[in-house]
Amino acid sequence: METIDAVVIGAGVVGLAVAARLARPDNNVVVLERHPRHGLETSSRNSEVLHAGLYYPPGSLKARLCVAGRGRIYEIGRRHGVFCRRTGKLLVACAAEEVAKLESLLAQGQANGVAGLEMVGPSDIPGLAPGVRAVAGLWSPETGIVDSEELMRHFLAQAQDSGAIFLWNSELVAVERKAGHYLLKINGMADPILARCVINAAGLTSDRVAALAGMDTAAAGYRLHWFKGEYFNLRRTLPIQPLVYPVPATHSLGIHLTIDRQGRHRLGPNAFAVSSLDYDIDLGLRRSFHEAASRYLPELKLEDLTPGTAGIRPKLSSDGSFRDFVIAEESARGWPGWVNLIGIESPGLTASPAIADYAANLLEWPA
Ligand SMILES: Cc1cc2nc3c(=O)[nH]c(=O)nc-3n(C[C@H](O)[C@H](O)[C@H](O)COP(=O)(O)OP(=O)(O)OC[C@H]3O[C@@H](n4cnc5c(N)ncnc54)[C@H](O)[C@@H]3O)c2cc1C
Repeated sequence: METIDAVVIGAGVVGLAVAARLARPDNNVVVLERHPRHGLETSSRNSEVLHAGLYYPPGSLKARLCVAGRGRIYEIGRRHGVFCRRTGKLLVACAAEEVAKLESLLAQGQANGVAGLEMVGPSDIPGLAPGVRAVAGLWSPETGIVDSEELMRHFLAQAQDSGAIFLWNSELVAVERKAGHYLLKINGMADPILARCVINAAGLTSDRVAALAGMDTAAAGYRLHWFKGEYFNLRRTLPIQPLVYPVPATHSLGIHLTIDRQGRHRLGPNAFAVSSLDYDIDLGLRRSFHEAASRYLPELKLEDLTPGTAGIRPKLSSDGSFRDFVIAEESARGWPGWVNLIGIESPGLTASPAIADYAANLLEWPA
């Protein structure tokens, strides 16, 4: 049986970026994806925002990989035509007691190396975001948007051009150890695959994939909690180009206003715990979305909101406390050559190329 140098589990944006980083003509890299194509789960169900890096404690992987990944994606956009745009983002304080939160995000963002951040007053806001009402704002010029499907197709093409093989409709269902390697059993495939290295980029089920390998995910702190986020689209176009965010909520960044490459606006996402992969939109939430956004968009009408999409976050924390990405080569636990990527919630899209580099370095993979 041929030994594969590296098998990546999952073809979301992170697995694709990892495959693009690892694949070379002189090695063999295989990607297993349970769906018939890439990006059918969280990577196509998000806000498509390139985060600046304000929300994460200095020194954390989230902070470092967000800042590094954002720069890499703008560069990919410039060199390879993947759509991205620095829209800028205005965080708004709608009441005096929220201003201190903006100031702490300013300090944290500066500590994370985010350029250009500045506090703005109410008189600056109409020039930045017409129609937005706030007592103060934090302006982040480096925040932007990306076309996530184009980014994924870029990583897919880069990986395939370097020789990576993608096995679609291929769910990893069992893992055995064999002579220091990993024997991977795939649903519906008679012959298993023998892998020297495994990169677990299985998103919402990355904890279950680690458990398939025999790891005690509860003891390791790897158990995931799913938090759904729904969106409502806006029927009419607003004269607002930057993204507009309230101060963050416990489990999410708050109901914010984003814009896509066609100039269409949407509101969301909310955040609540779920136990199944159900992407339906609760129409009964329209009023609460309207109320949340009306705090900073006073002209917004209830009829402007139409149901949009939903995504599910793979969170390591269920109580809103900070947990960093798990990006770990598991030799110390007895699984050499096995890299877990667990809890890759936001800013996982922004950080994706930097996550791939970080994982490759853990494996001491050649550049
Ligand atoms: C509502 C919401 C908004 C967000 N907004 C942003 C944002 O604006 N900016 C940002 O940077 N990030 C954002 N994120 C986070 C971002 O979307 C994720 O961090 C990122 O998409 C994770 O990518 P992934 O490849 O790890 O996971 P996924 O896209 O979920 O991919 C994992 C893949 O693994 C496959 N898989 C799972 N198990 C197996 C198995 N056993 N065998 C084979 N295949 C398997 C799945 O089918 C899936 O295709 C948001 C997330 C949500 C939910």
